[in-house]
Amino acid sequence: MHELSICQSILDTALEEFRKVEPPPNRILKMRVVVGELRQIAPDFLQSAYAMLTEDTPAEGSELEIARAAIMAKCDACDWEGEIPKTDFRCPECKSSDIQVSGGMELYLDSLEVE
Ligand SMILES: [Zn+2]
Repeated sequence: MHELSICQSILDTALEEFRKVEPPPNRILKMRVVVGELRQIAPDFLQSAYAMLTEDTPAEGSELEIARAAIMAKCDACDWEGEIPKTDFRCPECKSSDIQVSGGMELYLDSLEVE
């Protein structure tokens, strides 16, 4: 279950940010995490890992919001640009597989709400 280690590193980053806030806040209310579509992450596992790991930390009882980041592609054949599904790595316009993929591998803490 690699969601556990992913969640741990996100939480570490969040707690680090939390400690930098002045004046010191009481606790973390909410975290927003961006996860790319290409990441093999099960949101359910991530949520349960989060609930477990935040126990006895300033983030205990806080909410985890998971935002999915789409897979973006640019077609070398026809110059089409846009979002593609992870099930089909081809240009939706000309069906060429000559595409450049950007995005989809994101994994970072986007924002933090504190009290
Ligand atoms: Zn194309």
